[in-house]
Amino acid sequence: MSDFQQGILVVDDQQVVRHTLALCLQNLGFTRIYQAENGREARKILSSHSIRCVFCDLNMPVEDGFEVLKFLDAQAYPGAIILMSGEEEEVLASTANLARLYQLNIIECVAKPLSFATVKRLLSASERELDIEANHAPHSLPPLTAKLLKGYIDKGGLSAFFQPQISLSSGRLKGFEVLARLFKPDDSMVFPDQFIPTAEKHLESITDLTKRVIECAYSDINQYGKDIGNLSFAFNISAKVLEAANFPQWLQATTAQYQLRPEQVICELTETAFTTDQATIDTQMLRLKMMKFKLSIDDFGTGYSSIAQLHSVPFDELKVDKRFVLDCLSNTKSAAVVEQSIQLAKAIGVNVVAEGIENQEVCDFVKALGCDIGQGYFYAKPEPLSVFDWRAASIQGGNRE
Ligand code: C2E
Ligand code: CA
Ligand code: CA
Repeated sequence: MSDFQQGILVVDDQQVVRHTLALCLQNLGFTRIYQAENGREARKILSSHSIRCVFCDLNMPVEDGFEVLKFLDAQAYPGAIILMSGEEEEVLASTANLARLYQLNIIECVAKPLSFATVKRLLSASERELDIEANHAPHSLPPLTAKLLKGYIDKGGLSAFFQPQISLSSGRLKGFEVLARLFKPDDSMVFPDQFIPTAEKHLESITDLTKRVIECAYSDINQYGKDIGNLSFAFNISAKVLEAANFPQWLQATTAQYQLRPEQVICELTETAFTTDQATIDTQMLRLKMMKFKLSIDDFGTGYSSIAQLHSVPFDELKVDKRFVLDCLSNTKSAAVVEQSIQLAKAIGVNVVAEGIENQEVCDFVKALGCDIGQGYFYAKPEPLSVFDWRAASIQGGNRE
């Protein structure tokens, strides 16, 4: 539902654009519509009013749209942003990508002029996005302090959530990625973005967290999964954890203790895994591999996780990062990264997972390219294992609600 109590801001140096858009918004029932001729005026309005959504032109003579984005980013602006431009498609797409680096809710980057139908569509997309944000991803919240984090963990607040991974050729459940969640004493949920960076600052802290997440997940699997067959379970392992000398041995012993086979356990090595002492990291990965655990290179294509790593360690899988999958149908560069990553995986004979599949079209796109496994909100969001009726071993896409 739209929140008519909060305003909408239209920023454009052309009066005719502002007026036409304001008219559309009025016709859609909005009453609090603010207009700004440039970035400077926009900043004033944003500082003094509650604004739910900003329509912002990119090209303006005094303080352009990029300045507005920078300002909104500094404010950790939680509302929706729609960028408008007279530029060609390629510039629009690159801008949307750049904007994504800001962690703002950029709904779309659209070409001017905007039709009534487009404005209506964009507004419902922003309402959906803000709902999802409110329910799922408070990315704008600051990281927890180490002390608070330890306090919540000690109170038993750490949990394992499971997100299904689907074999694209058969449509059947292939396994799950396990994602950490933290619950505060008031039962509110904290997402990893808010506590993993804090934990990663200290070897003991991230190692302890990782082991607890794995134990939590194993215990859930034992409790809810009587018939897990060959399903796989993927864990996120960061570099620091591999620096802990006994981690592979610990994982081997714990996996056996819960009666799981190492072949079912996938270690997703996150990008930071490749920035510290490479020899130690590679040795630990080889140890895991010799113990028959599967190795996956996470966030492939992001610049940290690259082809060089595929060369030095015998990975079983690569995961194309969701930032490329999310907009692969509207951004030719993202599409190229997705396509090349899949081809590379095929060429060297490793599995490839596309994460961040949110709709049927993207699912069809990656499948046509030969991608093996899909993961994303289109199939299911991360949930406690007990929520899934996964013995049916098949999860249909489109079950978002
Ligand atoms: P990641 O490994 O890239 O995990 C995928 C993230 O994408 C998850 O966010 C998941 O909820 C989200 N996601 C999955 N499908 C979709 C989709 O269709 N659309 C969108 N927009 N997002 C989707 P989450 O759970 O917030 O985790 C964020 C990151 O935190 C993970 O990114 C991972 O790097 C880190 N993380 C999570 N759990 C752990 C953990 O136990 N240990 C470590 N070291 N890192 C963890
Ligand atoms: Ca991952
Ligand atoms: Ca990723």
